[in-house]
Amino acid sequence: MKPQLPHPLKAIDNSRRDFIKKGTAGLVTTLAAPAIFSCANGKQNDKEKLGLALMGLGYYSTDILAPSIQMCKNTYLSGIVTGTPSKAEAWKTKYNLKPENIYNYDNFDEIAKNDEIDIVYVVLPNALHKEFTIRAAKAGKHVICEKPMAVTAEECREMIKACDDNNVKLSIGYRMHYEPHTQEIMRLAEDKDFGDIRQITTGAAFNMNNTDHWKARKELAGGAMMDMGVYPLQAARYSTGEEPISVSAQTFKIRPDKFEADEVTSFQLQFPSGTVANCQTGFHASFNYLRVFCEKGWYELDPFSSYNGIKGRKSNGEFVFREVNQQARQMDEVAWCIMNDKPLRVTGEEGLKDIIVVEKIYESIGQGGKTMMI
Ligand code: NAD
Repeated sequence: MKPQLPHPLKAIDNSRRDFIKKGTAGLVTTLAAPAIFSCANGKQNDKEKLGLALMGLGYYSTDILAPSIQMCKNTYLSGIVTGTPSKAEAWKTKYNLKPENIYNYDNFDEIAKNDEIDIVYVVLPNALHKEFTIRAAKAGKHVICEKPMAVTAEECREMIKACDDNNVKLSIGYRMHYEPHTQEIMRLAEDKDFGDIRQITTGAAFNMNNTDHWKARKELAGGAMMDMGVYPLQAARYSTGEEPISVSAQTFKIRPDKFEADEVTSFQLQFPSGTVANCQTGFHASFNYLRVFCEKGWYELDPFSSYNGIKGRKSNGEFVFREVNQQARQMDEVAWCIMNDKPLRVTGEEGLKDIIVVEKIYESIGQGGKTMMI
């Protein structure tokens, strides 16, 4: 997996070394979103901003995405898709939405006729990602789909095909790819400042007390691996720039009466270069770390996948980049790529690569052992 550094953020990324300081505590500034870009001719490209509809108005849409989109330069909230009339009313008032840009899950396909909505952002429970990504693509809308992309690799392939067939772009909500400390980890995978990468230890978990939630059950593809486990999986992949050749995994339940889906999951990956990654996830405790041990030193992010406050250290000193709004950067760059018909940083294929490994993790858990990837 070679991380791409395309387009509007490239100039910013190239200047990032200016921010590497030993022992620097601050340097937290707001990163300007990409400028408004001159647009080529074409149906969508004559717009200065693309309209985006959030689909599924739960926690992530309400608390994180909707506020972040207010900071975007290339996209704005033009619509919503919700099954709850009271939410539709509240969002209409709060975000000054036109009534004709508010859809429910039954009349959603009519969105095809709406020129004010260019992008549909699918923020539904995991098992619904496939259906609504395909319906959005068939309506001629570009799609951002939240992680995990889908439940199986086959579903991911169907989503990619539907978007290709309908000539729309598909991106996955992997916000860390837009975060400067994470981009430095990706650079280190390529440049190997500390020599060969030998061992990665990474984990992301939180203590879930609302165990009535769909994320604690299997029906809508909940479970710690799907919810939080994709972060250490992603981290192991982007810290090496490689795809794993073997997977072994185990799962545990601390509260078996509360969790039908996996509560605590450990997995180990081996990469073609020999690097080993030990990865942890769970709904049982709060932790968030990425540590990379190399031939001639080490580096870490702690936390590595939180919405803000990402902190980096290397064996020769601290590294600090400016704080960014990850989601605003993500949505802005996706909109820019659509307007300019440029390749996306995080594609459907990237989401698929994770789900291929997740399938093997579940297979290994089922077999109680190691499953070869090749
Ligand atoms: P949530 O439960 O808070 O929200 C889900 C929304 O889907 C709710 O508004 C619910 O009403 C709606 N919904 C529609 N049909 C439903 C059905 N059949 N059953 C249950 N709910 C239904 O969940 P969330 O935390 O907002 O997560 C939504 C998606 O966003 C998930 O895929 C999750 O992995 C992803 N997510 C990503 C991040 C990130 O940092 N990228 C963070 C949180 C969540």
